[in-house]
Amino acid sequence: MSGLLSPAAHTASAPQTLQRVSVLGHDYVRASSWAAQTGLRARWIAPDQELELTNGRFTLRLIHDSRRVRWNGVWVWISAPVVMRDHEALLPSLDLGSTFAPLLAAKKTSSPVRVICLDPGHGGDDTGKREGSRFEKQYTLLLAQEVSRLLVKSGYKVVMTRSTDKRVELNDRPLIARRANADLFISLHFNAADVPSAQGIEVYCLTPVGASSTNAGGEGADSPAAPGNRCDERNVQLAYALQETLVQKLGREDRGMRRARFAVLRGATMPSALIEAAFMSHATECRCVYSSVERSRLAQAIVQGIVGYKKCIGAR
Ligand SMILES: [Zn+2]
Repeated sequence: MSGLLSPAAHTASAPQTLQRVSVLGHDYVRASSWAAQTGLRARWIAPDQELELTNGRFTLRLIHDSRRVRWNGVWVWISAPVVMRDHEALLPSLDLGSTFAPLLAAKKTSSPVRVICLDPGHGGDDTGKREGSRFEKQYTLLLAQEVSRLLVKSGYKVVMTRSTDKRVELNDRPLIARRANADLFISLHFNAADVPSAQGIEVYCLTPVGASSTNAGGEGADSPAAPGNRCDERNVQLAYALQETLVQKLGREDRGMRRARFAVLRGATMPSALIEAAFMSHATECRCVYSSVERSRLAQAIVQGIVGYKKCIGAR
């Protein structure tokens, strides 16, 4: 492994004081150096396999050769695998600024979070996923209506990208949010897979510039910046708050906070996230999609996730 290490070319993403090394084309920093800089203590759980960094309030678990890390017990996908060798863990430098810094210390805001744009996925001839005679588009709308009802009851203003079964172009959806001066954009979807055992919750936010995405067949690191990248920091905080709350409140499988360059996230000029809330194709999890009682629990957890995000950024 050490033969793969060489001094990296300059990149802007890593703090200047941290020495960078290149591994298989990715720019890394030593986890111990970054931990010292940010006041985290490091402890090996298993030498060269698993490392814990903590300051009491936040705990980051790193696993060798994994693109998933655990942040306070919740899975988060990062831009490249963690590398461990010779009692040293290496972290992708891109994630220091784009993932870990926003989660460690959110800049507080003086603006309220009051107007929420809900985006029920699909609609009209775009049916989304299908299981038998049931279409994803029906259930994303029912979920959005329930989330909307709860938000309005709590004093929020809600705008929906559609409130009937009609087609809305992907690029138009964030525009609807912008015209309504929405403070957040949240897209609601359900999953399905050929593998019947696939289940759990995924919340996506926009992939930062320079990283490859972590959705199925995600795009490469050479994709251009999008308007949504202006909200990178808030996007992570929103997606993480939703992932954490949904997993904890609903007790379902945690598939991790992920990154994608979905059109609706690319175009959103306010903090945005896309929730894949459950698998329609799973024998028991599909109840979260089809049962109004289970959907209501899901909607409550989404609202609690929004409240968690507001707390994170100190918003009214
Ligand atoms: Zn969908």
